[in-house]
Amino acid sequence: MKKKILVTGGLGFIGSHTVVCLHEAGFEPIIIDNLSNSQMSAMGGIKSLIGFEPTFVNANVNDTEVLSQLIIDHKPEAIIHFAAFKAVGESVEKPLMYYENNVVGLISVLEVMKAQGISNLVFSSSCTVYGEPDQVPVLETTPTKPAQSPYGATKQMGEIILKDNASWCKTQCLRYFNPIGAHPTAALGELPLGIPNNLIPYLTQTVAGLRNELTVFGNDYDTPDGTCIRDYIHVMDLAEAHVKAVERLVQNKQEENFELFNIGTGNGFSVLEVIQSFEKENNIQVPHKIGPRRAGDVVKVWADTTKVNNVLGWTAKRGLDEMMRDSWNWQLKLQKN
Ligand code: UDP
Repeated sequence: MKKKILVTGGLGFIGSHTVVCLHEAGFEPIIIDNLSNSQMSAMGGIKSLIGFEPTFVNANVNDTEVLSQLIIDHKPEAIIHFAAFKAVGESVEKPLMYYENNVVGLISVLEVMKAQGISNLVFSSSCTVYGEPDQVPVLETTPTKPAQSPYGATKQMGEIILKDNASWCKTQCLRYFNPIGAHPTAALGELPLGIPNNLIPYLTQTVAGLRNELTVFGNDYDTPDGTCIRDYIHVMDLAEAHVKAVERLVQNKQEENFELFNIGTGNGFSVLEVIQSFEKENNIQVPHKIGPRRAGDVVKVWADTTKVNNVLGWTAKRGLDEMMRDSWNWQLKLQKN
C-alpha cells in the first residue's frame, strides 16, 4: 500500500507541484487547503498530470477537529505543512492575520500530530530568516537576523517552535530561496491574486500586457549592475526537495530530529540578469524602468547548498533559462483560459 502524506496548502503554488511529485515518487498525497490563496483550478491541473483527483478537504488547518478526523481516516506517515501566508507587505498591514495563520496554524498542526501519534513533519521556512547577511552565500549555520516583517517573524517563530518540539517531532525544515517557474507542461503554476508583489508574476503579467511596465526597484545597490541579487529556484526542483525530505523522514534517516536545509541553486542573479534571461529565452522584450528602492529589500542573498546536496542528496537541476521559459508558458496558458 502506498504511504500517505498529508499536504496542507496542497493547492497552492509549491503545494500543487509537490503533490504531483509525491504521486510520481509512489506516495499518496492527501490535501487540506482552505482556498484562501489558491484556487480549485489547481486540482484540475493536478488531475491532468496524475490522472485522478487526490483526496481533498476544504478546511483551515486551525480547525483541529477536521484535521484530526482527516488524520484518523488516512493515517498519514508525514505531514508537509505549506498552508501559510507569504506576502511581506500584507504581513505589515495585517500582522495578526499572519501570526494567526502561520504561527497558530503550525501549533494546531503540531497539537493534532501529537494527539494522533504522527511525528514526521516538513516545514516551509524561508531565506528571509537570514535578513541582510554579512556574507554570501549563506550556510544553514549563518546567524539569522531580526525579522524585517511579521511574515519573516512567523518563519523564525516556526523554526523555534519546531526546535523546541524536537523531542517528539522529527522536522525537515526547508529554507526556500526564491521559487519561480511552473510545471513544464503549464498544467500548474502560480496564481497570484490581485497585483503581484513578486518579480516573476509581475514581469510575466507586464509582458502579457496586463501591466504597463515592470519597475526595477533600485539600481544603486552594491552589486555588479546595481540591482538586487537573489537565488531563484525552479518550483519543480523545490517540489522534488520535498519528496527527498519526506523520504528521509519515513525511512528514518534523520541524524537529528530537527534538520535544516537551504533549498536554493547556489547561484545568485540580479533583477536585470533575470530580465535579460527572460528576453533571451522567450525572444520578447520586457518593458521596464528603473524606480526607487523598495523598503525592506535585502541587497543580495544566495544559498550555500553543500549541506542539502550532501546530506539530503538533492541538487537543483533546472537553470534560470528553464525557469524563464516555464514561467512564460504558464502565463500564456493563463491568458488562454
Ligand atoms: N523586484 C523588482 N520589481 C518588482 C518586484 C520585485 O525589481 O516589481 C525585485 C525586488 O526588489 C527583489 C527581487 O526583484 O530584488 C525579488 O523580489 P521578490 O518580491 O520576487 O522576492 P523577495 O526576494 O523580495 O522575496
